[in-house]
Amino acid sequence: MSLTWKPVAQGIESMNRTDIRFRGVYFCLALLLVSVPIGCGTASSGSLETGSEVQLLEDRGEFLKIQTRDGRVGYVAAGLLKHRNTASDADADHSHAVVREAVLWDVIPEQTPPPPPPRVRAEIDREQLTLNALFIGEETGKEVIAPGNVHYFVVDEETGERCWRSIECTHPDCPGEKKNGRPYYVFFLVAEKPNEEEPPIECDACGRFRDTERETPQQKTEWSRYVRPYELPETLRRRAELDDERRRFVDELRSEYGR
Ligand SMILES: [Zn+2]
Repeated sequence: MSLTWKPVAQGIESMNRTDIRFRGVYFCLALLLVSVPIGCGTASSGSLETGSEVQLLEDRGEFLKIQTRDGRVGYVAAGLLKHRNTASDADADHSHAVVREAVLWDVIPEQTPPPPPPRVRAEIDREQLTLNALFIGEETGKEVIAPGNVHYFVVDEETGERCWRSIECTHPDCPGEKKNGRPYYVFFLVAEKPNEEEPPIECDACGRFRDTERETPQQKTEWSRYVRPYELPETLRRRAELDDERRRFVDELRSEYGR
């Protein structure tokens, strides 16, 4: 990956100084210069448009420290950024994209800012459809991240291989090999012809505990409950935020009609 963005902390230049006392500014500057970006106010240096491409510099939990294309450095609420599609853009010069207009903070706010106002339901649904998922290359085992609204697989442009939607086995005693601290991935078979019935997705590693010939339908269902699509942490977080946004949209709608 080649980074061409200016590694300059221009966030300092673009800080909104009018509403901060000079003392506060110097204090913030000192803190920024010694790279201790703890909260000393809620100064924001502006906003980022939907779709802006940014480079992740540091994961600070609820906030991500990023650099914009025009060299601004700041913090964005983690949920408002999504990982770029690495299946189609393996060597891009950005790591994330902004999912909706976002505040770029100079420092991490001391108090969690309220979530942005709810959008209309169609927009929320549209974002939810394209939440990221993890895919695994059938030849190389390469992990790529791409929007999950595809039928089973994406094609990785770099290797040309099919990368399959990762399925995890969550059985507590699953003997499958765990990778990168995540649960075991199950590779699954899909029907080759459109009118063929899909074979059930099962964990091959857990197969050794089972006597599939003699299992009751209930036991089969029980086992299948442990196998499900793996969700990226960013997707889990964002899905919850979108559910909350949808609730707030409905609440606003109700209060409008109740007036
Ligand atoms: Zn298993």
